Amino acid sequence: MKTVSYTNKKSLLDKLKAKSKREANIFFSLCEKDSEIISTRRFKDVLLNSGLKAKDKRLYNLFQNLDAHGDRIVFEDFINIIRSSELIVEKALRGELSIPDFSYFAKNLDNMFDEVKKIKSGELASYIPPLANVDPDQFGVAIVTTDGQIYQRGDSEVDFSIQSMCKPFNYCFAMEKLGLEKVHQHVGQEPSGRQFDDLTLLAKTAVGQLNRIPFNPMVNAGAIMTAGLISPEDSHSQRLRYIRQQFGRLIGWSPKGEFSTELPRFNKDMARQENFTGYNNIAMGYLLMATGNLPHTKTKLHNDIHPDQDEFDFYSEPAVTEALKLYFSICSLEMTSVNFATAAATLANSGVCPISQDRVLSQKTVRNCLPVLQTSGMYNASGTFFQQVGLPAKSGVGGGVILIVPRLMGICIFSPRLDKQGNSVRGIEMAKKITSKYLVHTFDGTMTDTDRLDPKIPISKWRANSCGEAIWAASNGNIRTLERLVSEQRDLQIGDYDMRTPLHLASAEGQLEAVKFLLKQGVKPIPDRWGGYGYFDAKNNNHKDIVKEYEKLDINYTQASHLVEDPNGKTDKMAIYDDELAVIELLFAAFENNVEGIRTLIAKGVPVHAGDYDSRTALHLAAAEGCLEVVEYLVTHGHPLFVRDRWGATPLDEAKREKRKSVYNYLKEFR
Ligand code: GLU
Repeated sequence: MKTVSYTNKKSLLDKLKAKSKREANIFFSLCEKDSEIISTRRFKDVLLNSGLKAKDKRLYNLFQNLDAHGDRIVFEDFINIIRSSELIVEKALRGELSIPDFSYFAKNLDNMFDEVKKIKSGELASYIPPLANVDPDQFGVAIVTTDGQIYQRGDSEVDFSIQSMCKPFNYCFAMEKLGLEKVHQHVGQEPSGRQFDDLTLLAKTAVGQLNRIPFNPMVNAGAIMTAGLISPEDSHSQRLRYIRQQFGRLIGWSPKGEFSTELPRFNKDMARQENFTGYNNIAMGYLLMATGNLPHTKTKLHNDIHPDQDEFDFYSEPAVTEALKLYFSICSLEMTSVNFATAAATLANSGVCPISQDRVLSQKTVRNCLPVLQTSGMYNASGTFFQQVGLPAKSGVGGGVILIVPRLMGICIFSPRLDKQGNSVRGIEMAKKITSKYLVHTFDGTMTDTDRLDPKIPISKWRANSCGEAIWAASNGNIRTLERLVSEQRDLQIGDYDMRTPLHLASAEGQLEAVKFLLKQGVKPIPDRWGGYGYFDAKNNNHKDIVKEYEKLDINYTQASHLVEDPNGKTDKMAIYDDELAVIELLFAAFENNVEGIRTLIAKGVPVHAGDYDSRTALHLAAAEGCLEVVEYLVTHGHPLFVRDRWGATPLDEAKREKRKSVYNYLKEFR
């Protein structure tokens, strides 16, 4: 027979808190079993499961210290480790990174990936052999958050050709050199509505006059122009080196060589092939010159030295050939999906690379670039893409697409089969799937639709938000809050983990006005986990007026059947915690077998045995759902066993009633 360790645990936590409350909660959340130590292995696992990588330079010192430390960490050492490491470590342990529920997020992404992988339609770009010869089945996805969490799947470490995905960055580099105004004397920012290599893209009518500059930096004419604007006074190799280094910084490369990230590779064969048959681009280069907009140093006509009277030295304007050469070269850079996602994340992070913390671009440059991507980044499908996916994005004929979710993450999808517009078929599908699951579309409002999720919010909190406020308000008779929730189009019929709804709680607590309000809003009475309707909540608590309201409806109300084996047995107290939604979040995490979700709440100081409006606690929920892992975590973190819900049931009763054998056997050992 095991004994209950609750009081020991509580005094341990109090003892730790006396030294440092914040660290105490985190340390306590990481403890396994009954000891006053945490294991290095567990510490590392939690960090890695949060989406951070061991090669992240911010974790380098920490991991070294942990390795030197051995497998047991006592509280004093823990305080030192936490204090000397980067803030990111504490954020990860408290579940406060950009995407808090990273493993749930990754699981959803994996499902989308598997679905999209089945799609085989589309054609490879065929205009040059290096693109026509790639393996068409390749498929890679990478996501990098502004905190440096990384999701990757499939061919995410395979180099592929940047092609038109270089355009937003060329535009940024040109803005960094010359400023917005100067750049836009040479290139516009309007969507063109035409094929990206259309020769007419040069003529742009602005306010009634012919402006004669490319429509925007995302069409070829505009991109040749922006390439032409970057350090035209330097030699080709100096310019290309500069651009590769800028791209390098976007993906976490450091000039001092401190990180493992390398510079983007230059595929010389690709560049030569682009040049060899790139007649349209070459024509555009000359048109840019003809309009007088491509910057060049005035060249004097040299003396003709050709001896033959019928011959002369043909002149090619170097400003044109150099701009084209640079453009073809940049299109021929190659990186992996993880690299591209990091570059996109740098844009999402207002110009600071989330891996190296290097400010590569100014906030202004990024702010000016993203709207152009939003309206013109996806070739002729930009309008449709904006409507469906609603994120700034850029694709290239190499099969890549990058998407930017400002202040949250950069995404790269790579799959070389293209649709008629030149966009990766799987890239578009994956992007659509992401925005249909997650509220990341630029014009997604706040949450009213509970099927779609906000990736910035832990899933249990999301569930708690969808019902918790209404239930607490109903239980307190707070009509003003209920009215506001109605105006926000919230569904007031949604139940919690026990299918308890606002109507149940208003009825149990005798809140007549709230019951009337809810029924008037058309909320239908539904049974809870135990088959009981609010009608019986009112009746059992002797709220006669409310019973009358229910009797006006033509419903056959059923009674709840609870199991309470020993009503006069031992009884423990649950904790009352001020942050009511955090309590609902804790109980949802227990309901969903989400140990990590529970751990982060404990790390933030929520008492493990906090109870809700029905005096239900996390242990009741974990027992009822048969979540043994959660039950063990709760018990080893001092959750008392004989807490009783509104009806007197203990977690053991719940396990028995729901026939959760392993949980029942585990709990019945304690006395
Ligand atoms: N190098 C290609 C061109 O200029 C880029 C094509 C693309 O990705 O849109 O034709």
